[in-house]
Amino acid sequence: MGALTDLIYKGANAVAGLTEGAVNDAIKKYGAGRKIAFPDTAYFFPAIFSATGVKVEKLETLPACVGVLKSLITNRDELGDALNAGLATAVGAEILEGLKFIEGSPYGDGPGIGFVPDPIIRSLGVPLVTGDIPGVAVVLGEAADPAALARVVKDYQSKGILSFLVGKVIDQALAQGVKMGLEFRVVPLGYDVTAVIHVVTVAIRAALIFGNIKEGDLPGLLKYTKERVPAFVNTFGPLNEVIVAAGAGAIALGFPVISDWDVVNAVAIPGALEYAGDYDQTVKKSLELRNIKIKVKELPIPVAFASAFEGEIIRKNDMAVEFSSDKNPTCELVVMKDASAIEDHRITVIGGDIGPSSPLNMALATYVEVAGARMRVDFEPVIERKIHHWFNYMEGVMHTGQRNLFRVRIGKDALSKGLSLRHLGEVIYAMLMDEFGAVVDKCQVSLVTDEKKVKEILEKEGMPKYEARDSRLASMTDESVDRFYTCILCQSFAPAHCCVITPERLGLCGAVSWLDASATKELTDTGPCQPIIKEGVRDEKKGVYESVNRAVDAATHGSVNSVTLYSIMEDPMTSCGCFECICGILPEANGVVVVNREYKGITPTGMTFGELASMTGGGVQTPGFMGHGRHFITSKKFVHAEGGIGRIVWMPKELKADVTMKLNKTAKDLYGIDNFTDMICDETIATDAEAVVAFLKEKNHPAFAMETIM
Ligand code: SF4
Ligand code: ZN
Repeated sequence: MGALTDLIYKGANAVAGLTEGAVNDAIKKYGAGRKIAFPDTAYFFPAIFSATGVKVEKLETLPACVGVLKSLITNRDELGDALNAGLATAVGAEILEGLKFIEGSPYGDGPGIGFVPDPIIRSLGVPLVTGDIPGVAVVLGEAADPAALARVVKDYQSKGILSFLVGKVIDQALAQGVKMGLEFRVVPLGYDVTAVIHVVTVAIRAALIFGNIKEGDLPGLLKYTKERVPAFVNTFGPLNEVIVAAGAGAIALGFPVISDWDVVNAVAIPGALEYAGDYDQTVKKSLELRNIKIKVKELPIPVAFASAFEGEIIRKNDMAVEFSSDKNPTCELVVMKDASAIEDHRITVIGGDIGPSSPLNMALATYVEVAGARMRVDFEPVIERKIHHWFNYMEGVMHTGQRNLFRVRIGKDALSKGLSLRHLGEVIYAMLMDEFGAVVDKCQVSLVTDEKKVKEILEKEGMPKYEARDSRLASMTDESVDRFYTCILCQSFAPAHCCVITPERLGLCGAVSWLDASATKELTDTGPCQPIIKEGVRDEKKGVYESVNRAVDAATHGSVNSVTLYSIMEDPMTSCGCFECICGILPEANGVVVVNREYKGITPTGMTFGELASMTGGGVQTPGFMGHGRHFITSKKFVHAEGGIGRIVWMPKELKADVTMKLNKTAKDLYGIDNFTDMICDETIATDAEAVVAFLKEKNHPAFAMETIM
C-alpha cells in the first residue's frame, strides 16, 4: 500500500496547494464578490454542492471550500483515508476548472467541451436505461501506441459506450480518424487532468437529478454512483501523482481504474485498480470489472453498425446517393401479412441497386412484410419507426423522417466499401427478428427503386395504411381503452419513479406511447410495461383511479401512492429526470410555461430549463411542476384538471412552432379559439413576467378568465 498512498497524498497535496493559490489569485484579481458559475447547471459546483450542500456562486465562498478540501487530506496510510484524499482532489479539480470559466467558457476553439450542461445529462437518461448506452468510459493520458488507443476508443464506440477523453489521447484519437462529438459517443473534455472532474460531475448530477439524492448526503451519493452509474476509467501512459490522486477519487465513487502503467501491477487493488498492459485486453477487462454486458450484433454488411453512428450527418458533398421524398416517390411501410404469403428472410431488390454508376437521386420503397401468431396490426407502426434507427446505426447511412416523407443518404465511403440495398434489407431483417422475435415469426424485406413500383406501393398500400393508422390513433382516447400501462424502465436511475402511459399521455421521455407500451408488454411479459386495468374511477377530471394508485404504489415500492393523470397541482405524476419538457406555473399570468430541454435561455419564471427541471425529478411529486413529453402538450388531457391547454401562456418559439398545428386544433375543439398559439408568448416577445402579462392581456389570453391556479 505504502507507495500508492504516498502518491495519492502527494498528488492531493499538490492539487490542494494549486487550488489554494489559484483561489487567492482570483480573489486578488477579480475581488471576492465576483460571480462564478459553470454553464447551464442548477447544481452550482456540483461536487461541492452534492457533498456539502454549499452553493458556490461567488469567489468569496471558495476559501472555505479549500479549507474543507485540505481537512480531507489526512496523510494516513489507510485506504479509506487515501480515497478521501482522492475526493479532495476531485473538489480541487472542480475549483480549478471552475475558475477557468470566470471570463466565459475557456473551451471555445479546441476540441475539448469542458463542462457538460444539465440538459445533456437529462438527454442521456433514456439511452442509459435502455442499455443503448451500456456504460461510460473515461479515457485519460497519452498512449504509447496511438493506433491501439484508437482501436480501444472505436471498440467502445462500436459497443455504444460513451467515452470521455482527457489529455493527449484526444489528439491521438483525432489523428487516427476517430469521429468525435456527443453524437458519436466520443466526447473530448480537455487537456488538463483536472478536466476529468467534468465526467465525475456528470455521475454526481445523475444522482441528484434521477436519484433524488439530497445535497450533503455524501454516503448516499457514493452509493448511488457506485451502484447505478456504470462508469470506469482507463489511463494510458505513466501516471503522475495528480492523476493517481484523481484516480483515487474515481475509485471512491465506485469507478474502477484500469491502467497500462506497469507500476500499477505491483500495487493493484483487485476490482478497483487493475493493470492491463495489453491494449487488446483493456476493453474486455474494463467491461468485466463493471459487469457491463454487450449484446453483439454480427451483421453481414461491409460497414460498421452501432448506435454510436445514429447522429452521423452526411453532407451533400459526401453523399453518393439520396432517396428523398422531395425529389422522388418514397414509401416506408411495415405490413402484417398471412404467414403463407411470406418467405422468411427473403431480401429482394426491385429496380436498380446502388453502386458506382447509380444516379444521385433515386426513388425508394422500404417494404417490410411480417407474420406471426402474436403479431397485431397495432404493432406495425411500432416496428416501422425502428427503421429510422436501424438505418442510422449503419456508418455512412443517414435517415430522417418516416412514411412517405423521408430522406435517406448513402455516403461515398459506404458505397466504396460495397454497401448495397441488399445490406439494408439484411439489417432490417436481423434487427427486426432480434427485437421483435417474440411477435414476428417470419419476415421478408423488399427494397424497391423502380419508380413506378414505388408509386404503386405507396398508393395502393402505403397511403391507405397511414390514414387508417392516423384515424385509429385519433379515435384512441383514454376513455376508449380498458387499460393503461406502467413504465418503470427509468427505475435503474430513478428508483422511485413510474410513468403511467395512457393513449392521450405518452411517457415523459417522449419515447413510449400507449401502443409502444402495449407492444413492450407483448414482447416481454414481465418487462417494464405492465397493464393497469381501469377500475375505481374517483375523479374523471383530475384522472384519479384506484387501480392506477395501486399500480403506482406497487411499482414504486410504496414511495408514491396517489397520482392524478391530468393535474399539475394535485399529486402530479412523478418525473425521473429525462423528460423532454418541463411545465411550471407562472402565478402572475394565472397559467403555465412549457419549456423544452433544448432551450437555453431564461423563462418568465426567472429560471432556465435546467433550474425548472431541478425542482422535480427522482420520482418526487412537486405540485406546480411536471415533466412531460412534447406530444403531450397538444393533448386534451394536458393540465385538464386546471382548465387544459388554455393555461399555456409561454413557450420557446421553436417548441411553439413544432406543436402549432395540433395545439391550434385542440384549442379550437376545446374552447372554439382560432390560432391559439398567437396568444402564447415566447422569448422573442418577452421573458420577464410583467411584459409577458402585458402581452397576454393585449391578446385576451383565456388563462385570465380561469380560476386562480395557486
Ligand atoms: Fe422512463 Fe417513463 Fe420513458 Fe419509461 S416512459 S422510459 S419510465 S421516462
Ligand atoms: Zn426517465
